[in-house]
Amino acid sequence: LFNEILKVALPIASDKLFDYSNCDNKNINPVGHRVLVPFRDKKIIGIVVDTAKKSKYILKPVYNFIDKEPFFDGKTLMLAKWANDYYAYFYGMTLNQIMPSFFRAGKKNDDLYQKIYKTIPNITPLPKRAKKTAKILLKIAEHKQGITHNKITQKYPNCHSIIKKLIQNKYISCNFSLPKIDVTAKFDTAKKLNAQQQNIFDNIKNDLDNFAVHLIDGVTGSGKTEVYLQLINLALKRKKQILILVPEIGLTPQLITRFSKRFKTTIVAIHSGLNQTSRAVAYLQIKQNRAKIIIGTRSAIWCQFYKLGMIIVDEEHDLSFKQQSKFLYNTRDIAIVLAKKQNIPVLLGSATISCESYFNCKLGKYKYYKLTKRATNSKQPKVVISSILNLKLYEGISYDNLIKICNVIRGGNQVMLYINRRGFAPKYMCFECGFVKPCRFCSTTMTYHKSASHLRCHFCNYVEKINPICDNCGGGNLGQIGAGSEKIDELVNNLYPAYAAVRIDRDTTKNKGQLENKLSTINKQECQIIIGTQMLAKGHHFKNLKQVIILDADRGLFGTDFRSMEHMSCEILQVAGRAGRAGEQGEVIIQTNQPKNQFWQQLFSMPYVKVLDTYLATRKKHALPPFTRLILIRSKSKKQTFAEDFLQILKDNIPYNFMKFLTILGPALAPIEKIANMYRFNLVLFAPRYKNLFELKKWLLNYMQKNKFSQRLSWSIDVDSMDSS
Ligand code: ADP
Ligand code: ZN
Repeated sequence: LFNEILKVALPIASDKLFDYSNCDNKNINPVGHRVLVPFRDKKIIGIVVDTAKKSKYILKPVYNFIDKEPFFDGKTLMLAKWANDYYAYFYGMTLNQIMPSFFRAGKKNDDLYQKIYKTIPNITPLPKRAKKTAKILLKIAEHKQGITHNKITQKYPNCHSIIKKLIQNKYISCNFSLPKIDVTAKFDTAKKLNAQQQNIFDNIKNDLDNFAVHLIDGVTGSGKTEVYLQLINLALKRKKQILILVPEIGLTPQLITRFSKRFKTTIVAIHSGLNQTSRAVAYLQIKQNRAKIIIGTRSAIWCQFYKLGMIIVDEEHDLSFKQQSKFLYNTRDIAIVLAKKQNIPVLLGSATISCESYFNCKLGKYKYYKLTKRATNSKQPKVVISSILNLKLYEGISYDNLIKICNVIRGGNQVMLYINRRGFAPKYMCFECGFVKPCRFCSTTMTYHKSASHLRCHFCNYVEKINPICDNCGGGNLGQIGAGSEKIDELVNNLYPAYAAVRIDRDTTKNKGQLENKLSTINKQECQIIIGTQMLAKGHHFKNLKQVIILDADRGLFGTDFRSMEHMSCEILQVAGRAGRAGEQGEVIIQTNQPKNQFWQQLFSMPYVKVLDTYLATRKKHALPPFTRLILIRSKSKKQTFAEDFLQILKDNIPYNFMKFLTILGPALAPIEKIANMYRFNLVLFAPRYKNLFELKKWLLNYMQKNKFSQRLSWSIDVDSMDSS
């Protein structure tokens, strides 16, 4: 029998568990169950994470258990607990966050099940005049695996009573089941691996039953995905599930298509584009081992797997693997912990591996593999550094480059113009006094959007009408300056009206299906010019792309964050990698005001790991991650001094036994000082790598809970922060 007292994690900002007495469910193990409990004067849903014999409080009983089975299995609870402690968050909130919102709202598995009817052998013939009944029975009999209630009622809308009778008289059975996943049909066969691919495959093949982290460093198109596919095939044969994590939803349809053609199996996708219900269905299909291949973004790591055999993190360097609100976990790192707990391999792959992962290879923690050539024998693109010093520019593009665009599209090829800034122009300025229109609520400027004909803040989304009079001097000579993707779009449409252009940025892909449509236009070669922002830097494969022109290449050269250079290198190489993937050699043009900068030379003349070595050397010198561990504490408040003082007092309170090994920077205004009227401050703690920071994180969380000001501003503890902006 189980102990009577339930220890419940509630979704509130507290690291305590709350004691409740049990209701009448005495003979089931309550751990992992969702329970409805009284809390203050509300009813809320919590998770039972432990039991006890005694409690020092007078207890209220839980109202009820929500499910018949535990919602969380022990493995998931353990992983969540680990992540919760590592990322210094509140356990009840962690569990709440990792639960699909459908279940968070208290809905149940049964709400997702469908009725499925199947015929059962019955020797009694139907009454002769029951013609409609006979028809329906025949229809059901056609489906050997059963037919869903929805399908049959679509065909026969008023069949409810007939179906009821058929069940009563034992002509058909009625079961509840999750929607079935269509089994994919195999068309494609495995490619014969080249020597480098084969070597990776053989190595990992012999390591399928152990935990190990394998990092594949391979240029775009070098055949990483082919290696994944062949290893997945082995895992499928062993009846295991495989999780593939990708940074963007935009990438899931492409991968799903490629995977569906290769395997005869069940594939599901988990990403933010799904509605609550479909997401919950996928979640259960995974839990019940109906889905074998799971392709998902960030949150897919929190699915409960039945029998996981391998995890693949594609584009492992990508920052979107780091959750940026509430529970600030890094998906890649959780994947590694999960794999370790389940004793299975993880594959990380990228054309621009992260400093952290590379460092772990050097420490011998990860196994390092390299793919140096493109698998299809197409050459790496040629790189041209195109100086724009002293040149007249046409909306930011040099004359020579405009001619190049023209040549490429006339030759029947595609060109991509890359600019990492959406909208028409980043600034709206008065030409009489030089006043640049700022956002009223942020420490940024308003972006000019021409087609929407307004100014918009890209941080808080505040929109203002375009005022022809200067706010500062009352002058009437105002205009936009600089270029964004919208302006480039207009320019190429004016210059090359006979050719079609497609623009991919957040403004043009807001609605469902828009991105897919645009990608398919590109792949069907219905357009010649592709204009895009960072969304295009990620994993998309364009067969016919001959030339890439990076328009604002200098943007990251003088960044404020110690990772700026790494991020910029990665972005440029990723974009460059889109050129000339099949067939002839492509070309990448870097438009720059810094043609002599060492950076370009380095980036394109040596292997990427050598570039990373130089970054690592700098980080070592300044004791920055990965040589140290970083915890970023943020505070935000409408009152500037309040946000600052809060962190200052926190800093002053850190006990000596932590202070003695910490290096602390700040509190200081964040690079973007104010967003949505909130002043933002950062306090950065660096600790030696060998230190276990468990006690420190506990202390921080506890301080935040006890401090009476912490409820009057917003704060966060960001462990292994990737972004200080
Ligand atoms: P990556 O994932 O590194 O970008 P892919 O696996 O997508 O690379 O491979 C790029 C292209 O090369 C794909 O069209 C793929 O089918 C093809 N390819 C990969 N490996 C081989 C191989 N061993 N032989 C022939 N073609 C291959
Ligand atoms: Zn703003």
